[in-house]
Amino acid sequence: MGTGKDESTSEKESTFDDMHLDPKLRRGIQELGYDTPTPIQRRTIPEAIGGRDLIGSAQTGTGKTAAFLLPILERLLDVERGRLHALVLTPTRELALQAEGFLAKLGKHTRLRGAAVYGGVGMGDQERALRGGADVIVATPGRLLDHMSRGYVDFRDLRILVLDEADRMLDMGFLPDVRRILAELPRRRQTMLFSATMPPEVVRLARDFLTDPKTVQVDAKAAAAVGVTHLALPVPSHLKTELLVELLRDETMTSVLVFVRTKRRADRVALQLQRSRIDAGVIHGDRSQGQRVRALEGFRTGRHRVLVATDIAARGIDVEAVSHVVNYDVPEEPEVYIHRVGRTARAQHFGDAFTLLAREEEDDFARIEQLLGIAIRRATVPGFAYDRPAPERHSGPPRGGLGRRREGPRRGPRGGSSGGRSGGRRGFGQRPPPRGSLERRPTW
Ligand code: AMP
Repeated sequence: MGTGKDESTSEKESTFDDMHLDPKLRRGIQELGYDTPTPIQRRTIPEAIGGRDLIGSAQTGTGKTAAFLLPILERLLDVERGRLHALVLTPTRELALQAEGFLAKLGKHTRLRGAAVYGGVGMGDQERALRGGADVIVATPGRLLDHMSRGYVDFRDLRILVLDEADRMLDMGFLPDVRRILAELPRRRQTMLFSATMPPEVVRLARDFLTDPKTVQVDAKAAAAVGVTHLALPVPSHLKTELLVELLRDETMTSVLVFVRTKRRADRVALQLQRSRIDAGVIHGDRSQGQRVRALEGFRTGRHRVLVATDIAARGIDVEAVSHVVNYDVPEEPEVYIHRVGRTARAQHFGDAFTLLAREEEDDFARIEQLLGIAIRRATVPGFAYDRPAPERHSGPPRGGLGRRREGPRRGPRGGSSGGRSGGRRGFGQRPPPRGSLERRPTW
């Protein structure tokens, strides 16, 4: 390794000024409003500028995109323009567009050009970029392979490769495609791999394609626990939508990402919200590219107050001010929870993460608490406790009078959080709120 010696001091003190970045990049950073580097940026940028291979264990929301884009830009400042010098492989088009957007902003004062290459749109512009218009390409694997099969992609000048969200590429079945692409790249190059988790296949990929990498881990616990107020709201499954509507009466919930497990559920929940006159968009894998872009844009611009999303579709969504994340369903994999809540508390913003917790999801939820190392506070909203009898309409979609509740005064989860803990009720309501986990602190 040989570089660990000055790491602790540089981590604590380093600023963007200490990183010896070119003034052109410093301007880009300033214009994006970044004051201080995030932990992953502190720990990777100096090494990456030096050309070292890297493994970054970090999820979305940690600032990892700039952690790889800044070294790319810095290292390419003096190269001959118009050749493909750096390639970023990323699992989804949303992430590709996002990274390309940041590239354009961070590199605004350089002459370097980037382009995004992803499926679902025409090949023409992308072909032109690949034929010499762009120095940096951010691509999804399948579409890049389509271009490669047509014979005009020239990797001879490629010197930097980034594998972004490697674990997600694995989940989405892209690893064989990634390996096919890697087989075509020059061997002498720098490779940086970013992954929120390190399943064995990703470890193998790193072993096969990286040389003496420096591993940088941004602690999942710290990343998720700090800056986010986590709250679990016990509720029978059939009342989840009704509770969501109730929560949304709180007008401070201005920009709310609602995560659900399946596409059908996403459609159903969005429809039910719309019926309750809540402006909600929906994004999942069966929506067309146009529909997804429109929903995302609607959310970003504030037209949709709520965006209902499945995990894969929402992957990497970068909306400046997500005020709240609601886990309509508890994810089966605890890491997914961290990805979800990473959307609120992004980059020094604060945010709340609510989980609508059905009794049958308690085991999955306990695993999340274990991963985070905190006991998440429970708060029972009046009228929604586990032991509320099922209504006559049972689990059918609630209509019309949604949210017009009769039982007692409204208590948001925020203020009177455990006010509804009706005496004698068993279960989570009785757990004392853990101290510390609810404090509002900056993410880094
Ligand atoms: P990422 O983890 O790359 O998806 O970044 C998450 C969010 O953090 C994005 O909105 C970035 O613009 C923002 N961000 C990245 N680096 C910084 C920084 N040093 N200071 C403030 N915000 C940042």
